[in-house]
Amino acid sequence: MSSCQVCRKKINLSLIDMGHMPIANDLKKSKDNKCNLFPLEVLLCEDCKLFQLSVRINPQSIFSDYVYHSSYSSSWLAHAKNFANKVKNDIDFSQNNFIMEIASNDGYLLKNFDKNKFKILGLEPAENVADIARKNNIPTEAIFFNEDNATYLKNKYGKPKLIIANNVLAHVPDIKNFLRALDIVSAKETFISIEFPSVVNLIQDFQFDTIYHEHFTYLSLNTIENLINKLNLKVFRVEKLDTHGGSIRLWLAKKSNDIKIQKNVHLERSKELKSKIFDSETLKLFSRECFKRKDRFNNFLNEEINKNLKIYAYGAAAKGISFLNFCGDNCKKILGVFDKNEMKQGCYIPGLNIEILDPKHINEIKPDYIIILPWNLKKEIKKDLSFISNWGGKLISFE
Ligand SMILES: [Zn+2]
Repeated sequence: MSSCQVCRKKINLSLIDMGHMPIANDLKKSKDNKCNLFPLEVLLCEDCKLFQLSVRINPQSIFSDYVYHSSYSSSWLAHAKNFANKVKNDIDFSQNNFIMEIASNDGYLLKNFDKNKFKILGLEPAENVADIARKNNIPTEAIFFNEDNATYLKNKYGKPKLIIANNVLAHVPDIKNFLRALDIVSAKETFISIEFPSVVNLIQDFQFDTIYHEHFTYLSLNTIENLINKLNLKVFRVEKLDTHGGSIRLWLAKKSNDIKIQKNVHLERSKELKSKIFDSETLKLFSRECFKRKDRFNNFLNEEINKNLKIYAYGAAAKGISFLNFCGDNCKKILGVFDKNEMKQGCYIPGLNIEILDPKHINEIKPDYIIILPWNLKKEIKKDLSFISNWGGKLISFE
């Protein structure tokens, strides 16, 4: 039996057991590269309400040479730019205020802040990605954010006016330590933005493909409030976003900050509880429905492949890799996965050995079907690939 990473109590309430799966971003350089499989099951701690993986794989082995960098999706870049513009309006910045971003990737978000007006710093643990950020002129430290490093950062750079921790919390192996670190680097006037895909949406919309080893936890407002309860932090504002199939952005500040807790925090808290995401019946139903969807996808593959049709997929992001591996060996019949990221092209999907191809070949290959894997970018991808209808090709997605 596993124990909760936060309160150490035994937990056995399962949201879904997806079996043994490869690490989703562990793309293979050649077809026969061996692939390690690890258990992938999400459990709920009934005490602190944290949804979490039953087994956590060492983050160093996941992130030391990370293939992904974000600058490839135009809708994501727009999201980052909108966020930057919004905070510039909402927060009363003065000259040379310090903005620190955790998991800053290649600097795609921080580049929206003028370096003549702000002091900026990115934290990006993957050395190769941090290098790209530095080349883009974004000051970056290649470190993890945790209690030890928080003290180092505070001493070296001072306390930030704004801390951005968007879409990083789920990737953090020790969430309690991370939240304590936020408390350490914050001053009374610091604002903290944390953004994450909502586990409410994950459960209600059966987004099982957002479950993979890099996501240690699956979060809600209730859970975060439980976890920061004993710290000197409070949530004072909630924003609902439609990114990643439904996300929430929480604004945190020190409890000693005079800023009032907005009404929508109370509303969202009770809405989450009403959605029954912490009830064992809901969990069982989720798992059953996900396995039904797996069967449905396999039926589709079997039928269409029997007709000798050329089936490809699009988008070799972790989500798609998780989806295909959960659906199983049958997916080996998919002839290739297109992806715009040149760093991924020529690599193979772990566990299935499907080659990742440059989308410029779509015109020569003329697939009968392209399965869109990142359903959160479906609109953008459908527009980009609409030309496949010229030969009767179809774009489909399973969600
Ligand atoms: Zn717990």
